[in-house]
Amino acid sequence: MATDSNGLQSRIERMCMERGLKMTGQRRVIARVLSESHDHPDVEELYRRAAALDERISVATVYRTVRLLEENGILERRDFGGGRARYEATEEGDHYHLIDVESGQVVEFTHAEHAALLRRITAELGFDLVSHRLELFARRLPDVSQDQTDQTAPTERKGTSRP
Ligand SMILES: [Zn+2]
Repeated sequence: MATDSNGLQSRIERMCMERGLKMTGQRRVIARVLSESHDHPDVEELYRRAAALDERISVATVYRTVRLLEENGILERRDFGGGRARYEATEEGDHYHLIDVESGQVVEFTHAEHAALLRRITAELGFDLVSHRLELFARRLPDVSQDQTDQTAPTERKGTSRP
């Protein structure tokens, strides 16, 4: 993975250029922070990370940039409850989220059967499925340890991020 610690273009910056967005120095820093964040940060958290790299960046600039990237299909807004919009790059691909309602922890997973079922339902209604999302709000079972996974289940765990 290309990180951008020595002036190389970050993934998100590259996507901005492809869409013809003007890249100022501050936008470039925010794009880099987004490229390196895989934990669904909210705007406040993005601001903290961007300001650590360039103290001239204001929270208003982060809001404007995130909005611009969202409008251009580079970022996707997620709602995991708690009243904060959270963001991840569109190119992270199709996956679902499970939110632990007690800790706020986010588990990413995929499930091929679920996606196939949704495509079937959509086709039965005379449509072609363009996109879909699934957010499960759940409470951890008392006996299930965090690392335990059932290899026979079709659910594939992608990753976990802290709130
Ligand atoms: Zn995600």
